[in-house]
Amino acid sequence: MSVVGTTKRRNHGFKDPLLVQVMERMGVDTIAFYENRGEETRKLRRRWKELAECREEPVAGRRRPVPDAQAMSKEIEALCLELGADAAGAAGLRPFMVDEGVELPHEYVISFLVAEDYGVTRRGPYAIEYEALSVYTRCCEIADQLARAIRGMGWPALAHHNGGGEIQAIPAMYWSGLGELGKHGSLIHPEFGASHRPGFVTTDLPLAENGPLIFGVQDRCLNCDICSLNCPGEAIPDEAVVTEGVRRWITDVERCYPYSRLRTEYCHICVDACPYVHLENRDSSLKALYKEYMGNRKTAGYRTPAWFPDGAPLPPNLED
Ligand code: SF4
Ligand code: SF4
Repeated sequence: MSVVGTTKRRNHGFKDPLLVQVMERMGVDTIAFYENRGEETRKLRRRWKELAECREEPVAGRRRPVPDAQAMSKEIEALCLELGADAAGAAGLRPFMVDEGVELPHEYVISFLVAEDYGVTRRGPYAIEYEALSVYTRCCEIADQLARAIRGMGWPALAHHNGGGEIQAIPAMYWSGLGELGKHGSLIHPEFGASHRPGFVTTDLPLAENGPLIFGVQDRCLNCDICSLNCPGEAIPDEAVVTEGVRRWITDVERCYPYSRLRTEYCHICVDACPYVHLENRDSSLKALYKEYMGNRKTAGYRTPAWFPDGAPLPPNLED
């Protein structure tokens, strides 16, 4: 079976007509955020591109039979963790998980994530960007190794690197059971919040789907506006829409670009301001870091928060 993608891919840099339009309106002709990258960050991006060359190799001639897809899923999840991922799951590959027009000859997608170090928020936007790219690079290495291991079992497998492959990250992660979609548009995992990066492998190796992991995120988002109050572009909407049966808030990219692309520093504020970095895992050191970060946001003049609207009962894990 092959899957033909239906989800529109967002191009980057000058290939993105919306970005070009915003630049014209602002009267700028360079993408400040890209221009300003340091050599260490550029080195990581080169490594990321090199790894993209090893996505596909020959499949071993002898195929290992898989009588139990559930057991195989467990084995693959354990392998992901052994290779350095922090969480992993699998789903049936569907057209909305693939970029428009791309044809993938596989039935399943394995999604995994690697947690980011939230402590880098102390060192500012350049450190946050470096951490993001380091984790992405690690994800590429894991995806390449995982795909190689599956091909070694005699099953076809292709590694996908987010931003360089053909997989739509959010729906693949959602159906692989890695978390719920927050108002800020990122996937929230119970242990790592939204501080993580993903990697993917598509394959025909028989696997069982994890399915959505629902733990109350969206109910909380309905009564929380921390990410939207802290977004310098006011790009995060209050109203949600439903696509493919899943509720989501769609970030207004046109409003986001002046901050995330057209100024010199990386913008990751919506993710870093989300309390899920400590809410579900109850990690006290992360909670202290979060409070410090939000204190800095307040000093910077943001209307930080009003955790919940006046009169709304405080969730028990926020009482302290
Ligand atoms: S900051 Fe609040 S509204 Fe935004 S994603 Fe996190 S929990 Fe949801
Ligand atoms: S990246 Fe920055 S500007 Fe864009 S939505 Fe997030 S906080 Fe807002």
